[in-house]
Amino acid sequence: MKKIALCLGVALVFSSVAFANGPKWDYEGKNSPQNWGKISKDFDTCSLGKSQSPVNITNFTETKMPYKIIFSYKAFPKLEVDDGRTIRVEYNKDAYVSIDGHRYYLTQFHFHSPAENLLKNKQYPLEMHLVHQDKDGHLLVVAIWFKEGKDNKILDPVWKAMPQKVGEKIKVSNVDLGKLIPKKLDFFHYDGSLTTPPCTEGVSWFILKEPLEVSKDQIKKIQQTLKESNNRPVQPLNNRKVELYIQQ
Ligand SMILES: [Zn+2]
Repeated sequence: MKKIALCLGVALVFSSVAFANGPKWDYEGKNSPQNWGKISKDFDTCSLGKSQSPVNITNFTETKMPYKIIFSYKAFPKLEVDDGRTIRVEYNKDAYVSIDGHRYYLTQFHFHSPAENLLKNKQYPLEMHLVHQDKDGHLLVVAIWFKEGKDNKILDPVWKAMPQKVGEKIKVSNVDLGKLIPKKLDFFHYDGSLTTPPCTEGVSWFILKEPLEVSKDQIKKIQQTLKESNNRPVQPLNNRKVELYIQQ
C-alpha cells in the first residue's frame, strides 16, 4: 500500500512539473520565436494570428484620451520569480487599473530586455509589462519603456530581490508601483496579443509614450540575470491602427 502511494506521489509531482513547463519554447535555437507556431498545436496563433505583438509603431493617429484611466496600485506584491525567460513579480489582484470604471486587476509585471515594442524603429534597452485581467478574463497590458539614465529608486526593491537561479522565488514587498506611474498619461494604444506562447490575441495594449529611467547598472544586472535577450521580434500590423491618446 505504501509503495502505491509513493508511486502516485511521484506521478503527481512528475505531471505537475510537465504541466508547469509546458511545451518548450525559447528565444534562441530551434525553439526560437520564428518556430513557436510549430512547437505545439496550442501555439498555432503565434504563426497564424493577424493581430500579434509586439509591433513597430511608425504611424499613429493622435487623439484626445477617450477614457478616464485611474491607476490604483496601492497593494504590494508578494513574490518575485525567475521563470527562466523573464523576471516576474506576482500580485494578488488587489491592484487594478480602471478604464471608464471597468476594473482590470494586476496579476503580475515582468521585464523584456531589450524592449519588444519599437517606436519608429527605436528600441529602448528595457520594457516592463504590467499584465491585467478583468473578471471575464479580458487582458490588458500596460507597457513602460525605460531609457538609460538615473537609478530607478521605485524599482530598487525588485532589483535587490532579483532571483539568480531559474525557478527561484524570493519575497518582495516594498514596491510602490503607484509612484512609478507618471502623472501625465499619454499612451500609444493598439489591439494585440501576448508576446509569448500561446500568443493569445484580444489583448488591449497601452504603452506609455514617454520612457522612464533606469541606471546603466540596473540594465546590466537584469541583462546578466536574464542571460539572453528575451524580446520577440516585431510582428506585422496588418490592418491595425495605432492611436496616441493624449491626456488633456
Ligand atoms: Zn511581456
